[in-house]
Amino acid sequence: MPIHEKSLIRPENLKTHEKLVLDGVDVSGHWSTFIEPRVVTDYNERLQEEIAALPGGEHIHRCWQCGSCTNSCTVHAVNPDFNPRYWIYLIRMGMESELLRDKEIIWQCVSCNKCTYACPRDVFPEGVMKATAHWLELKGHTPKKPSMIFDEEFTEQVVATGKIEEGRVIRRFFEKTGQPLLQDWLVEIARRVARRLPILQGIKLALAAVFRPRTRGWASAGAAIAEYVREEERRRRKALGLEDRA
Ligand code: SF4
Ligand code: SF4
Repeated sequence: MPIHEKSLIRPENLKTHEKLVLDGVDVSGHWSTFIEPRVVTDYNERLQEEIAALPGGEHIHRCWQCGSCTNSCTVHAVNPDFNPRYWIYLIRMGMESELLRDKEIIWQCVSCNKCTYACPRDVFPEGVMKATAHWLELKGHTPKKPSMIFDEEFTEQVVATGKIEEGRVIRRFFEKTGQPLLQDWLVEIARRVARRLPILQGIKLALAAVFRPRTRGWASAGAAIAEYVREEERRRRKALGLEDRA
């Protein structure tokens, strides 16, 4: 049984009669307020399965709608429309069109994991929020977020070389998101680091930026990881009913 919160009633679904008399009783105005019934026809019966197929969404079926996640949520405290419990309910019911109405705020989860500690059923609501935001991107309902682009660049580099070269990750991230490389805050960090960095370390960093070093013997490990990542992507796309482009 879902929780019906007043904040979830859309204003357009509230109806009030200015003049209404029922059985001789005047119920005009506020007294005749009622919620207009809605008919949901476009269920996605596989919605829960699709979210569960993405990392973080695996335990969504455990939710018993206690609301502890929403009550403890950092973002909900400043924006009552941010409601993990409600979105989990919509996903479990397959109410995709209702979920899409909130597609511009679901990604705002700040990963504080307060909900994770509050949840008595080990649903991992934070993971469900991430899986839902990922699902919105994969289905084309929202554009790819900068955080996703950063994660992809980071993973790509680890798989290719077995190492992380921060300068390269930042540079490629800025390129992919159309940002200028010379940003004030970045220049300031570089200046402060350069002031304290031993010369030898500085030379090593410069060489790493140019020559892209690899972990010794990484080729076979990298190939195995790349194959695993491709397999996982294929599995997820299949679960979401998307064509196999992997
Ligand atoms: S991790 Fe996200 S959903 Fe959970 S409490 Fe923090 S902001 Fe809310
Ligand atoms: S705290 Fe856990 S069980 Fe309770 S509503 Fe949130 S996800 Fe569901």
